[in-house]
Amino acid sequence: MYLKRLTLRGFKSFASATTMVFEPGITCVVGPNGSGKSNVVDALSWVMGEQGAKTLRGGKMEDVIFAGTTKRAPLGRAEVELTIDNSDGALPIEYSEVTITRTMFRSGGSEYQINGAQARLLDVQELLSDSGIGREMHVIVGQGQLDAILQATPESRRGFIEEAAGVLKHRKRKEKALRK
Ligand code: ATP
Ligand code: MG
Repeated sequence: MYLKRLTLRGFKSFASATTMVFEPGITCVVGPNGSGKSNVVDALSWVMGEQGAKTLRGGKMEDVIFAGTTKRAPLGRAEVELTIDNSDGALPIEYSEVTITRTMFRSGGSEYQINGAQARLLDVQELLSDSGIGREMHVIVGQGQLDAILQATPESRRGFIEEAAGVLKHRKRKEKALRK
């Protein structure tokens, strides 16, 4: 399983449709300051269901919609489409390629699609959970976060590792059960 293709339409600084194709292995995105590198990473979190405006480096959820420039009017919607190669069947779905689409309008609310069919946030989350990508997984290390990890106390570093390994949710569940 690997991320194959990402298309942004009206997402943050990407007013016009922009598609990036990734190969298996490591991908580097390079560019001058402010050119939109972090916005590409934000788009990845967003399409996988991110619900926190702060995580997306904005004040409110609508901040992901292209806000306009001196040359171009603001847009009314943002859309991100992520295609994941599933030829190894890592995702629990009978397709060798899975495309997740998230659309948001200024009027509010997000719509999701999985391979073109209307889906709920929960469907997206369930599709991605335990796959090593998606919610509650620290696979996205933001700018400055690396410092935080390197300077973390042993306890919080253990937390990062547990989260990445997927055991944190079980620990949380256990703690909750013991409190009852
Ligand atoms: P650096 O190298 O400094 O980390 P970067 O390439 O990561 O830069 P980003 O943070 O991805 O840059 O992009 C910042 C740019 O995106 C800013 O110019 C900002 O105005 C623009 N931007 C962010 N949100 C929107 C939006 N909703 N509409 C239009 N432009 C936006
Ligand atoms: Mg950046």
